[in-house]
Amino acid sequence: MKSIISIFLCFILLASCGTLSRKQDHDNHQAHQEHRNHDRHAAQMAGREAQKPKLVVGIVVDQMRYDYLTRFAARYSEGGFKRLMNDGFNCSNNHYDYVPTYTAPGHASIYTGTSPMNNGIIGNNWFDKYENKVIYNAGDDNVNSVGTLSKDGKMSPRRMLTTTVTDELELHTQGRAKVIGVSIKDRGAILPAGHAADAAYWYRGSEEGTFISSTFYMEQLPQWVSDYNASNPSQKYMKEWNTLHPLSSYTASGSDLNEYEKPPRGKQTATFPYDLPALQEKNGGFNLLKGTPYGNSIVADFAIAALKNEQMGMDAIPDFLAVSFSSTDYVGHQYGVNSVELEDTYLRLDLEIERLLIALDSQVGDGNYTVFLTADHGAVNNPAYLQSQGINAGYFDDNELLTYLKARLKKDLGNDTYIKNISNSQIFLDYEKLDAAKLEAVYVQNYLAQILTNYRQIDKVFTREALTHSNFTTGVGALIQNGFHHKRSGDVVFVLEPGVIDYPKTGSTHGSSQSYDTHVPLLFYGAGINQGKTVERTHIIDIAPTVSSLLGISFPNGATGNPIVEVLK
Ligand code: ZN
Ligand code: ZN
Ligand code: ZN
Repeated sequence: MKSIISIFLCFILLASCGTLSRKQDHDNHQAHQEHRNHDRHAAQMAGREAQKPKLVVGIVVDQMRYDYLTRFAARYSEGGFKRLMNDGFNCSNNHYDYVPTYTAPGHASIYTGTSPMNNGIIGNNWFDKYENKVIYNAGDDNVNSVGTLSKDGKMSPRRMLTTTVTDELELHTQGRAKVIGVSIKDRGAILPAGHAADAAYWYRGSEEGTFISSTFYMEQLPQWVSDYNASNPSQKYMKEWNTLHPLSSYTASGSDLNEYEKPPRGKQTATFPYDLPALQEKNGGFNLLKGTPYGNSIVADFAIAALKNEQMGMDAIPDFLAVSFSSTDYVGHQYGVNSVELEDTYLRLDLEIERLLIALDSQVGDGNYTVFLTADHGAVNNPAYLQSQGINAGYFDDNELLTYLKARLKKDLGNDTYIKNISNSQIFLDYEKLDAAKLEAVYVQNYLAQILTNYRQIDKVFTREALTHSNFTTGVGALIQNGFHHKRSGDVVFVLEPGVIDYPKTGSTHGSSQSYDTHVPLLFYGAGINQGKTVERTHIIDIAPTVSSLLGISFPNGATGNPIVEVLK
């Protein structure tokens, strides 16, 4: 109303005073403009209130390198990745800033807003000094499976030491927010959903092909999940996997038949088409689907079912759906970064993301929900393929290293049992044996560091002593330190040369501090999000603080990242 009156007054003034000086004319216009600015500001403030999402959907694409957004862009639909990129905000220089870049630390860091040095998830598996055995990040013997007689449900987030953005949403809303995690992988559902979640569901392959959970969350599956599982939801995907487009049109990848890919058991070559029903028996029943694009379809189906059955994003209290697509990782490991199989998996995932967005539009409404999409790590191109292109790369064997170190220890220190374990490029020493031999741990660390530095394909070495007594601010040292948990991590950490992996000769893997493993997509879209793009470096640990700011809730309790200012309205 104010602006109508002011326009009216302006008009009268201008009409009745034809002799107004230019200066007065300018002043009147300025007053008018100020009114308009004031009104626009008020509208923006009102808009900002309405910009708070009713639902946040976090999407993690397992093993998605940033360049998959660009390499396959020509054939992405308008409604999937491109909708998020073009209508949302693209942080195109987003990185992990720790090692090791694996699935469990990745998911934990996205949602806790801090790195393994604080959240404690230092690997998928690691040697636990206190339990004196190798443990799994989400394994928990104190809980039981729900929805399966197998042990696949004996899982919880208890080893993750700090809170997640999803935990903070639950605390902020007195538990009224609905928080659900969904993935093929248990850790892909459990770590994002956090400790205070309503539920996390993950896939049980084998003969079941269903979604399961753990008594950490519930005593039994909700009726809709039981009904969903009873409908035999995986069977329809046990069909042929052929390329979405003619094979010859996959020019963004190498040829389908090459020496860098591993065929499934029971198939001679890693080439299309894949007759899944025929391969099922030799490849663990429904587990076979995990390594095909259909694993992503199964997750999208279940995420959409959760959205509907749990009425997510339908009331004033924000909800959080954390979805992790794992099949991209299985496909990447088996066929590699440069394979047609991988390209086809991304073209199909794009369509699943489009389907998920359409479901969100129809239930929650475009503009009422916020999506972010990122990855838990990237991947290296197959080293044998890189070598064929003249690029330095290669293969490393931890077991060979251990044999060599034992021989050196025997020769130099008279005992070959001082090393308890080598895992995630870390050496764990046996402190009891060192004490018994009256050997200083620091002495042995430095002794091993010197040997390792001269070992082929090892690039750099850091000792516990160095990592606990100095502060690395840049380079690989900083990444090692961010991934180093003072209690849980080992005593000597080594870094392999670029392109060198401890892995078989087919397929791709990840885990390093190199950019192929650290550079991943980060897209934001929807309520409260600006449209735009930045090539400024952003960090994985910034995601949770950004989403916390958007929701107006506390940051996760160990958060060390910061909100990405340009992203938020
Ligand atoms: Zn992963
Ligand atoms: Zn192939
Ligand atoms: Zn992986």
